[in-house]
Formats: sequence, C-alpha cells, structure tokens
Amino acid sequence: MQSRKALRFAIFASLTLSLILSACTAHDTQDKSSNGSAADATGHSSAPTENKAANTDIDNTAIPFDPPVHIHKFSAATCTSPRICACGETAGTATDHNYAAATCSAPKTCSFCGATEGKALEHSWIDATYSAPRTCSACGMTEGDPADVPGKINYHGHVYTGGSSSKKYHYEAACPGKNSHEITWDEVTSRGLEPCGTCVLK
Ligand SMILES: [Zn+2]
Ligand SMILES: [Zn+2]
Ligand SMILES: [Zn+2]
Ligand SMILES: [Zn+2]
Repeated sequence: MQSRKALRFAIFASLTLSLILSACTAHDTQDKSSNGSAADATGHSSAPTENKAANTDIDNTAIPFDPPVHIHKFSAATCTSPRICACGETAGTATDHNYAAATCSAPKTCSFCGATEGKALEHSWIDATYSAPRTCSACGMTEGDPADVPGKINYHGHVYTGGSSSKKYHYEAACPGKNSHEITWDEVTSRGLEPCGTCVLK
C-alpha cells in the first residue's frame, strides 16, 4: 500500500513538474511583471490541471506554441484616467476625487490630484473684544487690534466693579465701595456695565 501510494505521488509530482517546466518555457519571452495577465491573454487559465495529469498527451497539446503576445502594462488609475497601457488599452474606471472640505483659505481640494471645486469659505469673524482682535472662529486668523477701551482719559490699566448687582465699572479701585474688585474688559462687555459717572472721565 505504502509503496503504491508513493509511486502514485512520484508520477503525479513529475507530471506536475513537467507541466510547470513546459509552461515556463512557453512564457519565457513574456514579461514577468505582468501580474498574471499572461494567463488572461493566452487563455492558459483554463488549461487542464492535475486532475487530468495522467493524460500526458492531452496536457502537452494543451500547451500551444504561442506567438509573442503583447502584454498590457497598466499604469495606476488616477482621478482623471482609468488604468491605461501604452497601447491605449484601458482597464477599469478613473478613481473618485478624494475631496477635503473647503477651508477659509482653500476651496474643496482633492488630496490625490489637487483638483479644486468651488471657492474658499468666508472667514467666520468674531468681533474684536477688549482683549482680542477680530478673530476667525474657523481658522483662528486675526485682523487688527483689540478694541479700544472706552473713556481712556484716566484709565490706569485696571477696571473695577462693585457687588454682583453693580451696573457700573470704575477706574478707581475705591470708588465702588466695600465690594470693589478688579474685572476684565470682557466682563465689562458681557455684563453690559456702564461707565461710572464719577471716576471714569470721558
Ligand atoms: Zn497594451
Ligand atoms: Zn482628484
Ligand atoms: Zn477663517
Ligand atoms: Zn467710579
């Protein structure tokens, strides 16, 4: 049993090997970098396989003497062109553009080929505050200077208010009384505080 099995295997292996060798010979002139398209072009993909390995005569005639065949060498597809061979043959379709969203500085732009579509966005400006210039909330670009504080005549770089219900801002720390504390100009704006009629000179 064992030796019969081994014998069958030996026959099978040698037939397979001869198939491979003759196939290699037939394809020696063909481009080895053709990614298997040789089989497509010559129809060898349908050649008999090891199932019929015993019929050596049929297998040998199944390896034809191919005339030299042009093997397509396809370039990669791009956004504007499918895969294409120097002979003009194409395969597949062009790829889709890979658009990144438009920004304040650039329109919709394809990350593969650089094609653009439409226009750049408008900046989304936030008005200048006393502490920051006009600023785009999307891209962070700034323009100009922070807003001028009002009534600068006797401004010493600090602004104060009184208790939480106070409606006024002051330049003199003592003016608001016992709850006096320093605040920022942005708080003055957000709380809508009015200049003190006494210590804020206009
Ligand atoms: Zn071609
Ligand atoms: Zn593109
Ligand atoms: Zn912007
Ligand atoms: Zn005051």
